[in-house]
Amino acid sequence: MKPLKDIYIFIGPPGSGKGSLSHLCKKTFGWAHLSTGNLCRQHIARMTDIGMQIDHAIKSGKLISDDLMIEMVYQWIQEVAEASQGIILDGFPRTVSQARALDTLFSQEKFNNSTVTIVAMNIHDDNVIDRLRTRFVCQNDSCQAVYSFLPSQVKQQPICQECNSILIQRVDDKSDVVYERLKTYHHYADDLLEYYRSSVCKMIDLNVELPLDTVFQAFIESTGKLA
Ligand SMILES: [Zn+2]
Repeated sequence: MKPLKDIYIFIGPPGSGKGSLSHLCKKTFGWAHLSTGNLCRQHIARMTDIGMQIDHAIKSGKLISDDLMIEMVYQWIQEVAEASQGIILDGFPRTVSQARALDTLFSQEKFNNSTVTIVAMNIHDDNVIDRLRTRFVCQNDSCQAVYSFLPSQVKQQPICQECNSILIQRVDDKSDVVYERLKTYHHYADDLLEYYRSSVCKMIDLNVELPLDTVFQAFIESTGKLA
């Protein structure tokens, strides 16, 4: 495995722009972006060993174990490290126990030259709800571009301007489920952020209520990267 330089962990509620910011970083710096939800689905679809274990856990109503998640993430890191110097973890770790398991992975010698930065994406819950109502995402897993328009303005099937795939509104972005998702998010993320704030990791706090360009600029400035 080639040594990875930069590891970013994005922590923010659904709709805080983790996907959009990741997308910009991918385009600008060539970093690889891991969305664990997508990766789980890919493993299940390809019926890999990991995929079958995940499928079994889901079908029997169990949580996917931390060990299995770490194994999946590590395998992904090994694959992408050949081509990218930086990676973004989005949606993982979700719990303090996953964060501890990830710390153990990153304490291995092959990560000696990697810097782990936690990016806390701060946004008020009311704004999250507004955003999710208007969110459309590219269905293409390797693109994942995010768009925003009011569903009432959509006259025909919207298409991604980057890759021509179909844009969809996720079922769980509909408002009645969103409150539950936010509650669940805070339940885990508040502890997770506290854990990282008292760790040795570098922390970046981003106000993601600002326009994406401004958020990206602030991110670049705090990382010291040149776009
Ligand atoms: Zn696309």
